[in-house]
Amino acid sequence: MADVVCCLFARGGFDRAAQGILGAGRRLADSLGGKLHAVAIGPADDAVAQGAAAVADNVLVVDHALLAEYHPEIYLDALASACKPLAAKAVLLSNDAYGQELAARLAHRLGGSAAGDAVDISAAGDQLRVTRGVYGGKATAVIALNRSPGVVWVRARALEPAAATGKPAGKIQKLSLDLKDSARVKVVSRHVEAKEGARLEEARLIVSGGRGLGGPEPFKELQALASAMGAQMAASRAACDAGWVPPSWQVGQTGKKVAPELYMAIAISGASQHIMGIADSKVICAINRDPDAPIFKHCRFGLVEDYQKVVGPLREKLGHSK
Ligand code: FAD
Repeated sequence: MADVVCCLFARGGFDRAAQGILGAGRRLADSLGGKLHAVAIGPADDAVAQGAAAVADNVLVVDHALLAEYHPEIYLDALASACKPLAAKAVLLSNDAYGQELAARLAHRLGGSAAGDAVDISAAGDQLRVTRGVYGGKATAVIALNRSPGVVWVRARALEPAAATGKPAGKIQKLSLDLKDSARVKVVSRHVEAKEGARLEEARLIVSGGRGLGGPEPFKELQALASAMGAQMAASRAACDAGWVPPSWQVGQTGKKVAPELYMAIAISGASQHIMGIADSKVICAINRDPDAPIFKHCRFGLVEDYQKVVGPLREKLGHSK
């Protein structure tokens, strides 16, 4: 019982999250001396199966007509059926809405322990140890999981992908499951959010605005800056709650967790709940007129200034340098 399973939602493609979770799974399996299995669930995607096979020893592709769209009960049944025979020590899921929704329930089905928001997972003797931020990111806790398997959702995009080993690709197998439609949960409608550009979680550059902008109009100015940089837009919860920008832009504890190379926080105070969503950014740069704003404790570059004096000239400069 030293194997590790990574659960991948095939619909998401072989994105940075899939790579991060497989990297974490590979390192954990190697340290336990076990095998790494990947379970790719949902409409079959070759890129996911091949990408996973380059890292994992075995890939199980679980496709079925009932898995065409995400459904919590049916996906849970499928994951439990796929994972149970593998009798793994750890089962890892990503920090997307699906992984977060299913992890604890999957742990229950498999008779194991659950944990979430992990930034590291390691083995200490017979126990799995999960490291995660607590108290809005102000402290770090290391949690020991006593029952196996430890079913953990991880901050997948912040975890390093697996290093190339040159070893032969793992085996890809199709797994046929006898799934039943769920009587308990009926999905009555689905709303697909209109999106421009890459997903925020995948963005390399992010320009983010806060309540200090004062209203929806200044976000247009930020949007122009973002366009000049080729960046995605995001916002603090205060700006989203005010209705200035869509809720899908929210970054933080109750929003999206991003991991760009550059996160530009403009007129955002840097509350711990916001920092929780941006802590995995490589470089944080802040513009805030209050020199005591907490964001300055977290950023690599900080400018104490009114954003209005900075955003326009910066956009012009970037526009000229293109
Ligand atoms: P404010 O705190 O009002 O800060 C505005 C900043 O703008 C100030 O620092 C000010 O100095 C600066 N400013 C003002 N005018 C200018 C100017 N002209 N030029 C430059 N700077 C200027 N928040 C999130 O963001 N994401 C979350 O997911 C999230 N989840 C939460 C979950 C819980 C359970 C709770 C309790 C809170 C959560 N919050 C979250 C809210 C969080 O605590 C803060 O209230 C929020 O992040 C504040 O947003 P803000 O920084 O935009 O606004």
